[in-house]
Amino acid sequence: MPQSFPAISDQKQLQQWAITPNAGALTELAKGIWDCAMQTKQRPLVVLSTAGPLIGVRAALEQNRPKDLPSNIAFLPQVISFADWLDAAPGAWKFPKKQSDLERWLSVFVNLRKHKTLQAWFKAESEAGAWGLAQAVIDACDTLSELVVPQLQSELNALLDTHSLDAQAWLKRVELVLDQAIAKAYVGLSKKVVDEESAVLLTFWRYLTNVGDPVIRKHLAMAAHLQAVKENAENSHGTVRPFIWVQTADPKPVDQELIDRYLIDYAQFASVVRVNLDWQTVALWPEALCGQNAEGEIVIADASEQQQVEQNINSSRHDGWRLLAARRFEELAWVAAKSIESHLIAKRKNIALVAQDRLAARRARALLSRLGSSLRIRDETGWKLSTTRAAAAFDSFLELIRAPKEGPSASVLLEFLQNPYFDLAHSLQKSPEVCVGLIAQLEDILLASQAKSGWETFIAAIEKANGYTSAHGGSPNEQLIALIRFTKKLHLAWQSPLLQCSSAYSQLQINLQDAGMAQRLEKDAAGKQLLEVLKRFDLRGGLYNNLEMRLPEWLSLLKTVIEEASYEEAGKEAEATLSILPLSSTRLREFDAVVVVGCDEQQLPAFSEPPLFFSDALNRYLKTSTIAAQYIQQARDLSQLLVSCKRVDLIWQSKSKSGEPLRPSAWIQRLQVALKKEIPWEVVEAKLKPYEGQSQPIQTSVSIPDVDLSIPTTVSPSAYKALRDCPYRYYVSNLLGLRKAKDFEEGFDASLAGQTLHAILKNFFQALKTEEKKSHSSIHGGADARRQWMIDHLMKFSEKEFEKLIAGDARILGTLRDWQKQIPSFVKWQLDRESEGWRYHDAELPIGFTLEITDPNGVKQDIRIAGRADRFDIHQSDTGAAAVIDYKNQKIKKITQRAENILDDPQLLIYARGATENSTEARIPGRAVEQAEWVTLRADIKDEEKTIRVHPVENMSGVMAAFSEQVVNDLNDLWARKPMTAFAPDSVCQYCEARGICRKGMW
Ligand code: SF4
Repeated sequence: MPQSFPAISDQKQLQQWAITPNAGALTELAKGIWDCAMQTKQRPLVVLSTAGPLIGVRAALEQNRPKDLPSNIAFLPQVISFADWLDAAPGAWKFPKKQSDLERWLSVFVNLRKHKTLQAWFKAESEAGAWGLAQAVIDACDTLSELVVPQLQSELNALLDTHSLDAQAWLKRVELVLDQAIAKAYVGLSKKVVDEESAVLLTFWRYLTNVGDPVIRKHLAMAAHLQAVKENAENSHGTVRPFIWVQTADPKPVDQELIDRYLIDYAQFASVVRVNLDWQTVALWPEALCGQNAEGEIVIADASEQQQVEQNINSSRHDGWRLLAARRFEELAWVAAKSIESHLIAKRKNIALVAQDRLAARRARALLSRLGSSLRIRDETGWKLSTTRAAAAFDSFLELIRAPKEGPSASVLLEFLQNPYFDLAHSLQKSPEVCVGLIAQLEDILLASQAKSGWETFIAAIEKANGYTSAHGGSPNEQLIALIRFTKKLHLAWQSPLLQCSSAYSQLQINLQDAGMAQRLEKDAAGKQLLEVLKRFDLRGGLYNNLEMRLPEWLSLLKTVIEEASYEEAGKEAEATLSILPLSSTRLREFDAVVVVGCDEQQLPAFSEPPLFFSDALNRYLKTSTIAAQYIQQARDLSQLLVSCKRVDLIWQSKSKSGEPLRPSAWIQRLQVALKKEIPWEVVEAKLKPYEGQSQPIQTSVSIPDVDLSIPTTVSPSAYKALRDCPYRYYVSNLLGLRKAKDFEEGFDASLAGQTLHAILKNFFQALKTEEKKSHSSIHGGADARRQWMIDHLMKFSEKEFEKLIAGDARILGTLRDWQKQIPSFVKWQLDRESEGWRYHDAELPIGFTLEITDPNGVKQDIRIAGRADRFDIHQSDTGAAAVIDYKNQKIKKITQRAENILDDPQLLIYARGATENSTEARIPGRAVEQAEWVTLRADIKDEEKTIRVHPVENMSGVMAAFSEQVVNDLNDLWARKPMTAFAPDSVCQYCEARGICRKGMW
């Protein structure tokens, strides 16, 4: 039987009332509040201890409004949450300035620097860990303050009596009272604390506690309200509006004591009714009915209480309770999504998803997103801001500025430049048209040259690419260098060893403006919230304005604050609403259906992380929340949910990750046992419907090029090699033009180091030719002098060419040193070659030849087969002889293998034929290439006698004839669009980019 609302007396006594937290709870509460209004002829002030049921209470008041209300109480009673009520305290402007969370973290940081005793404790922590620990320290300090500050309440009340005095003087007095109280409490608490950890914490508490703490402000606000009601009572001769306190959740003992005392004090000036929840007819388990005793232990139910619980279970059993088991995680999320969908189909519009298993709830949410805008999803569990696209983009900027002074890695750079909030045109002050494709071009250059890190490396790679473009009649893209310079400027601004917090914030804002990110973030819902969070770092004019810290410390603070922030989705009108919330948020709220996901024995009940510093026993002493209290509260919340909501789906995963069976929560099992006698509560095994289909074994991939597919009329040596290796691969990569996205981990032949070696050798031999023309040069002083000149200059050229790369990435120094070890042996080989009559002639020459073929339509096609030869030599005494050389940054063994398959990789033959057929173009008029050689730049030099540096093409005329015949056949087949079959040895397939398309291994 519900209790009737008490008759309001003017006995200056706290009155108690209790409501039953079932489906009718809000109506009962609303009727009671109206009853109070009618009795007192006043508009009551209703304060709820938690904010969750606020809207529900207001709606219930509106629905239950009595007819014929006197005009002075016609307005709805004022309903407000405790937190809002504190904020609305009269004269709150005079209170000490509220410290933000960030300021409190910084206070931990400052105290750490000041006090040696505390430093040792934080030593082992990384920067991110240290800020996390700072948060835990602050929470623990608040817990200690919660215990101590209530003892100050009478002093605070007395201080507020005089708050009409000068605000500053008043504040000083508050500080003084607090200091005295802390000093006194510190002595008392120190005696109780034995371990070092708690002793350090107490020291922190002593240093950190100040009048801007939320606990102190809470007490000041309560005192201010009390003061106001007292003044009201005096001025209005006792007709003050009644105060109704609704205890929506079990309070911590320390809060219980505080509010009990406060309500008694308040009752001296106004009618006060405290509303509790009565679990008598709602509790489904004894612990929910009996609660805990004064010692914090769970009370054991007696026989009559057991009977009461049984009665509650039997009378509240709904057909709408469903117990669903899913075997795997994915099934769990799928079942949750399906349950919600079934409620929506049944036209239920207000649905709750209780996220006992947060991951499964997130996954279910993702599955539900296909329902589109007709379902509004409100995530009350706190969607982290850090998981949004805006935060990821901002993070890419932070990664850029935290890079070492040489510069970031190419992936970090590209990640930043490719973030959707970076405004390239704005950054370069150019029109958007100029910037089209710029970042993709930069990525291509960095990938192709394997420029992995460092500003100088990036610039060198771009200059090389630009140089190549101009040499081939293209126009170099100057914006690429401008882009690197712009990003480098952003990075350099952060390179000082110590940052001042306030100037770091200004710098950050300038950077975000310059990169156009601030403007774009402003236009995005999550971006806007992110900018708001960043504003907290504006410490100008505050206590920590001049605080200095290292960049990694500041960055990890920034990241920790963003990590703590929640993203609030903008509400939009929709046909139905799904609220994702924790179990505690379902208290006194009404839903058409509730789905609880994660009801297994491991996740229900779920306990909050224990405070870092306090044992359960110490928690009890500090009168804060204990495991037992949380257990009881959850039993009550679940009872309330099951009793008051008609449709509840309880879903659990019946197999753990390791395949072990998982049972439903003990509460559910106990309900099953209790219900067995009456109507058994069956578990429904969720089964995913398998999709049926006939599979057909895949055959070897073959493709016939479509008639509309154009075939290139130029073929590079590498493209021809691809065609020889595997026609299907050629089809995918050269005809369809499909490319795999590359990253920097993959090795390339054309690495920046390899290209650099080629450039060094070209420059060196050109310099040698020039030097030879100088009649007085030391180079003419005999074989030894020539050798020395060559070694010295090759060393010098190498140092110079590698210098920039090493500035960008010091690891490249190893490559330089390896190469320098090769130089004497390389020079020896060159001198030996010269003694045979060969002389360096030219390098890096584009060269090729043209074939005429007739396609199936009878149309003649000129196909150009061409590439770039590394080097040509000519013979001094044989005026008709020339040689082509290809440098390879590979071991000789690899080159020997290559030579065995020369017809499949005929690069040197292409150059030889090209140069012979077009000797003028090759700048060797009148000569024919008779010799072709591969030269290794990584020869084994351990034993000079055994060093092999060169591998010649053997039987040159024979292979050349075979190649000439083969290439015509291959091109004829290609232009005839014959089927292109996938075949290649595994050694080729291993690195093939088209493997995912040809499905090698499946056939
Ligand atoms: S994986 Fe092998 S068979 Fe398939 S396309 Fe590549 S090279 Fe050819």
